[in-house]
Amino acid sequence: KSTTIQNIDGSINNIEEDDEDDVVDLAANSLLNKLIRQSLVESSHHVEVLQKDPSSPLYSVKTFEELRLKEELLKGVYAMGFNRPSKIQEMALPMMLAHPPQNLIAQSQSGTGKTAAFILAMLSRVNALELFPQCLCLAPTYELALQTGRVVEQMGKFCVDVQVMYAIRGNRILRGTDITKQIVIGTPGTVLDWCFKRKLIDLTKIRVFVLDEADVMIDTQGFSDHSIRIQRALPPECQMLLFSATFEDSVWRFAERIIPDPNVIKLRKEELTLNNIRQYYVLCEHRKDKYQALCNIYGSITIGQAIIFCQTRRNAKWLTVEMIQDGHQVSLLSGELTVEQRASIIQRFRDGKEKVLITTNVCARGIDVKQVTIVVNFDLPVKQGEEPDYETYLHRIGRTGRFGKKGLAFNMIEVDKLPLLMKIQDHFNSSIKQLNAEDMDEIE
Ligand code: ADP
Repeated sequence: KSTTIQNIDGSINNIEEDDEDDVVDLAANSLLNKLIRQSLVESSHHVEVLQKDPSSPLYSVKTFEELRLKEELLKGVYAMGFNRPSKIQEMALPMMLAHPPQNLIAQSQSGTGKTAAFILAMLSRVNALELFPQCLCLAPTYELALQTGRVVEQMGKFCVDVQVMYAIRGNRILRGTDITKQIVIGTPGTVLDWCFKRKLIDLTKIRVFVLDEADVMIDTQGFSDHSIRIQRALPPECQMLLFSATFEDSVWRFAERIIPDPNVIKLRKEELTLNNIRQYYVLCEHRKDKYQALCNIYGSITIGQAIIFCQTRRNAKWLTVEMIQDGHQVSLLSGELTVEQRASIIQRFRDGKEKVLITTNVCARGIDVKQVTIVVNFDLPVKQGEEPDYETYLHRIGRTGRFGKKGLAFNMIEVDKLPLLMKIQDHFNSSIKQLNAEDMDEIE
């Protein structure tokens, strides 16, 4: 029996039932990234802009002052510790705040400042004196809606009288009650219900419509249709904004259906390379042997912080138990944990409270922990049919050329897996040196 899972990059993996691991949950990953992210993700690429009207001048801003925000909003922005607009914000904010309002489709990886940008737009367009919903933001899950709402509350701290309402399951409102809050954030199903069935929200009065995490949204059954039904009932002068971390064709097709006459902004993702990584392998007989090899290098790997990857959840658990029994301090990041528990483990690791993290691939995918300098592949990433999973190998140990630190990677290889490793070496045209686990002088 096998299960099909979709990777974060859209590729499909078939995994044996036995190995069934944490199926990539896009929404959970996205939330995880938000919970652990404290600063902007850098990018060396230029922002690409496609204007709806190519002849109109293109503005970009280097400071928040240039945006002529309401004073209380500017204060909120600075109180969050933002000094200047992020790369994507430099281009997106002038468009989003322009008069007349312009529609926008923006794509950049998570952590580049999209959420902060549209929250700024919503807060700047809201009229605190009018007591009805004026801005509507759709998010893919309850938790992501709450997370966005928290940022609205933070940034709008000095905008007294501006309030947020959550249109999410479980948030019951009595029939006949008017919603007096100006900003509504919710999931498509509940928003649809509140607009059409319960008539709690008058869509004709919405000025700013935001569709966040479009890639995650279209991944959820029914959400595209719900979103489109909501969008169709908005007034023509309503500003429509769509954000996505990735841009496969499916997202693009959806974006074009839902955002009329858009400007488009894109910031390409930083590519991963193996250039700054010294790669080694240790030949082993079996699992116990691999474990011994790992213990032999343990001293050198705990100089920095390390992530150890296993192919299956079961293997990861086994390894964790063994290491703890032998007195090593490690923690296990597993898909059985809730998103909050996972975030707290990653947070402890980032704070340096834990030195070694054991995890499965799926669990750690898409989460960047900058200070990791050592990666151990306790199991090589493989696809079904015993082909190496090149992409996963790159994701595990690759670094972004300009911003990444130098690193070390160790592969624990059973003899029969050696051909796979050689394939990986050839594929990336990089050298993976054999290491004698007893002789650690090699790695300095
Ligand atoms: P995205 O929506 O693209 O994932 P966010 O808007 O959530 O990105 O921003 C990522 C992180 O960077 C958040 O912690 C946010 O507070 C912070 N941030 C956003 N804009 C700025 C800025 N201009 N200056 C400093 N930090 C920022």
